[in-house]
Amino acid sequence: MSSLINIGYLVASVLFILGLKGLTHPRTAVRGNLLGATGMLLAVVLTLTNQQIISYEMIILGLIIGGAIGAALAIKIEMTSMPELVAVFNGFGGIASVLVAGAALLENTLNGEIPMMQLTIAIAASGLIGAVTFCGSLVAFGKLKGLIGDGAVLFSGQQVINAFLAAAALALSCWVVIDPANGMAYWLLVGVASVLGVLLVIPVGGADMPVVVALLNSYSGLAAAATGFVLSNNVLIITGSLVGASGIILTQIMCKAMNRSLTNVLFGVLAPVGGGPSADEVYGGKVKSTSAEEVAMLLETARRVSIIPGYGMAVSQAQHPVANLAAILESRGTTVEYGVHPVAGRMPGHMNVLLAEADVPYEALRDMDETNQDIDQVDVALVIGANDVVNPIARTDPNSAIAGMPIIDVDKAKTVVIIKRSLSPGFAGIPNPLFALDNSLMLFGDGKKAVLDMIAALKDS
Ligand code: NAP
Repeated sequence: MSSLINIGYLVASVLFILGLKGLTHPRTAVRGNLLGATGMLLAVVLTLTNQQIISYEMIILGLIIGGAIGAALAIKIEMTSMPELVAVFNGFGGIASVLVAGAALLENTLNGEIPMMQLTIAIAASGLIGAVTFCGSLVAFGKLKGLIGDGAVLFSGQQVINAFLAAAALALSCWVVIDPANGMAYWLLVGVASVLGVLLVIPVGGADMPVVVALLNSYSGLAAAATGFVLSNNVLIITGSLVGASGIILTQIMCKAMNRSLTNVLFGVLAPVGGGPSADEVYGGKVKSTSAEEVAMLLETARRVSIIPGYGMAVSQAQHPVANLAAILESRGTTVEYGVHPVAGRMPGHMNVLLAEADVPYEALRDMDETNQDIDQVDVALVIGANDVVNPIARTDPNSAIAGMPIIDVDKAKTVVIIKRSLSPGFAGIPNPLFALDNSLMLFGDGKKAVLDMIAALKDS
């Protein structure tokens, strides 16, 4: 029976890996999702059939309560709040590892058994990584949700305290391994690791928080893998490792797209800020505003239009009108494409998800490098709620907060129309000289309303 279960777990793991591979491309993503879900169903069914002392009533109760909370959250949560939801999920994964490992330790102690060293090492690792993940994720959630200040909290001696806590956590882990019958060591370890989790995340500014959420996601995977060793559950070891690895890969991709190093993000070393020009200096008397009717006229004569979406498109939920506008222009012979920056919005793939929701064909999406290759051939670059990802200061000012971050060079298009509500800065909090360029026009207003007005103007013409 046990080897059959393990073969089943292996099949589930292969399905997870195929699922992940499918998720790397929008065309295969739905199939990938299905494969992953099938693997999960298989793993759950096998785990349930593999238990002798199991209370199915409790499991069903848990499924009902957990399923109801999950469904309510999924329906209620805004797309723009996804990073904080992911932060909470990571935290729950971490605390689950802490509790399962604690329960395993308690069970052994109560049975008067001396657990094997492999088990105690796994218990200590689950408690340590799980507690760091849980408390770190709660801080990340609080910062993203605005419940606690979203700035970086830095104080002198912070690194020394962190190093001391890390050393203490390692020492306590050794204590758990050497003297597993002493339950106090484990809960002390959890306490110290919790404080460490808080202190590791508070120096990270709100702007870098999504990167930390990806990293905490990786930690939650490692905690789950350790718990897999505690429970001798192969599928948990494999899935935990997959989550751990994919989380760290995602973290790296995000750091690269923001031109930040991971140490830079983790130790609250913000990219150089300050000293840059003020908003008045950048915009004073140079910004030209336009109307939906004027933009419609521009679009009517354009042969090639590139749409550059950003966070504001997500906030205003403008994706459907945007797809509509593109269809109208295409029906009149204009070539329309979308330039998608890897960190536009607030999570990786944010724009892809929204545009896919509006049935924009995948072929119309071009990544940043592709877009930049021939952006000078574009007649109108329509920037919808994007700011930092099109800020040319990243190329020109080495002291700016986004210095060196690769951007979409919309300033090189023949005409740039920027739709946003005001001249307020984006995520990085700095002015954008793009808005004051000779070839730029500002269409002030809510993204969705502005696009709907443009569609109405195009239809009237
Ligand atoms: P952004 O720089 O944050 O700017 C978004 C702009 O949208 C704002 O300037 C805002 O201007 C406008 N806006 C907000 N609500 C709007 C509405 N209802 N209608 C129209 N416009 C609206 O966004 P981005 O250019 O997409 O850049 C993303 C930023 O997030 C980057 O700095 C990136 O590094 C950071 N980030 C992204 C990720 C990721 O994975 N995607 C992760 C970490 C960090 P108004 O208030 O004037 O309207």
